[in-house]
Amino acid sequence: MTAVAWFRRDLRVADNPILALGGERAVPLFVIDPRLFRPGERRTDELVRRLHGFDAVLAERGGRLRVESGPPEDVVPAVAAEVGAERVVANLDVSPYARRRDEAVADRVSLDGRWGTLVHPPTALRTQSGTPYRVFTPFGRSWFDVGLPEPVDVDADLTGDVGEGLPERTGDPVSEHEAWGRAGAWLAGPIEAYPETRDRPDLDATSHLSIDLKYGSIGPAALARATGTDSGGRHAFVRQLAWRDFWAQLLWHHPETVTEPLNERFADFPWRDDPDGLAAWQDGRTGVPIVDAGMRQLAETGWMHNRLRMVVGSFLVKHLLIHWKEGERHFRRLLLDGDVPQNVGNWQWVAGTGADAAPYFRIFNPVRQGERFDPDGAYVRRWVPELADVPAEHVHAPWELGPLERSAIDYPEPIVGIDEGRDRALAAYETVKG
Ligand code: FAD
Repeated sequence: MTAVAWFRRDLRVADNPILALGGERAVPLFVIDPRLFRPGERRTDELVRRLHGFDAVLAERGGRLRVESGPPEDVVPAVAAEVGAERVVANLDVSPYARRRDEAVADRVSLDGRWGTLVHPPTALRTQSGTPYRVFTPFGRSWFDVGLPEPVDVDADLTGDVGEGLPERTGDPVSEHEAWGRAGAWLAGPIEAYPETRDRPDLDATSHLSIDLKYGSIGPAALARATGTDSGGRHAFVRQLAWRDFWAQLLWHHPETVTEPLNERFADFPWRDDPDGLAAWQDGRTGVPIVDAGMRQLAETGWMHNRLRMVVGSFLVKHLLIHWKEGERHFRRLLLDGDVPQNVGNWQWVAGTGADAAPYFRIFNPVRQGERFDPDGAYVRRWVPELADVPAEHVHAPWELGPLERSAIDYPEPIVGIDEGRDRALAAYETVKG
C-alpha cells in the first residue's frame, strides 16, 4: 500500500506522526500553494531554506521530497492518483484557511489527519462542563495532568521522486539537525535561569525556538519530552508550550476570532483611524525608546522578544488606540515565527478583547517597562543608536533631558504623551467595561 505524506509546517522526520505508517510506502509531498508562497518575502525565503534542509534529512533515510506547485485541492488528489495512493496523511492545522484547504482536499481524496503540530489536539482538553477552555490556568493544569503523548515510531518506507524539484534558496538550508542543535544548547544550561531572565530583552535569555516550532523542524511534544519538568526553569519553559496549545485550541473553537473580538462587547469599540501613528509605530519612530527598539528589532531580524511584543502591542492598541488587527497583520508579515493562532491569540490578549484578558484598566507604561526589564538601557541603545550616549536614568524617557542635551540627539518627541495616551485609552475602554 502507498500513502501520500503531505507536509506543510511539519518539516521533520523525527517524531512526525504522519510517518508512522506501519511500514507502508510513503510519498513525501510538499505543495507550493500560490496563495501563500511569495518569493522575496522573509517567511517564504525561510520556508525554502527549511524545505532544502528537510529534503536532505529525507535523503539520509532513502527518500526525497516531492515538490509540486498549484492549488492543493488539485495537486494533492492528482499526485495520490498518479502514485496509486489510497489516502493522504497530513498533520492538521487550526487556522481557518488551513481548515478550508484541507476540507477541499478531503472532498476529493481520503485524508488521514493527525496532530504533529501541537502537543495535544485542540479538542483533547475540555472544562468539567465539557466546553473548550477560555482561561489558561485551568487549561494548563489539565495539559500537565494528562501527560505527554508517547514518541512516534517513524517507520514509513520513503520514495525518492523529486517532482518539480525545490525552489532556489537564499542562505543555508535549515533542518531538524540544526534545530535540535539549538535546542540541545538551550537545554544544556541557559534554560535553568529562564524564570528569572525570560523577561529581560537586554539579556536575550529565551530559547529562540519559535521559528523551529513554527516550521515543525522540532515537534512540540518531542521538545516537551526532551525538556522534562525536573527544575523550575524546565517547568516554566514547558508551560510556554502549553500556552502555544492554548491559543491553538482557542482558534480551533473560535475561528471567527482571526478578525472578530472573542469578547463581543468590543464589537463597536472606538478604535482610532491614525495612518501616521501606525506608520510611526511600524517604522520604530514613535519617540518612545523601548517601543522603537522592539519595532526595529522586528524589522531588522524577523524576531522580537516576548516582553517587547507585549509592550509594543499595548502601545499600539492602548496608547494609540489603533485596532489590534493592524498590529497582527504587521507582525504576521515580518515575524519569522509568524503563526496565525499564536499571533491572533496574543494580540487579542494584549488588546483585552480575547481570552484570559487582564482588567481593562491595566495599561503598560512603556517607560516603567523599559526601566524594569532593560534597566541599563542596553537593549534600547542597541536598537536605537541615536540614544547611545544617553545615560541610563534618561534612556527610557529622553524627553526628560535638559534642553541642551535634548537638542543634541536626533530622536523624535513621543507621538503621544505617556499619561495622555493612558487617559485616552482608559476613557475608551470605560465604554466597554462590564
Ligand atoms: P521562549 O520564551 O523560549 O518560549 C518557548 C516557546 O514557547 C516559544 O518558542 C513558543 O513556541 C512558546 N511560547 C512562548 N511564549 C508564548 C506565548 N505568549 N504564546 C504562545 N506560545 C508561546 N509566538 C509565535 O510563535 N508566533 C507568533 O506569531 C507570535 N505572535 C505574538 C504576538 C504578540 C502580540 C505577543 C505578545 C506574543 C506573540 N508570540 C508569538 C508569543 C511569543 O512572543 C513568542 O513565541 C516568543 O517570543 C518566541 O521566542 P522564544 O522561542 O525565544 O520563546
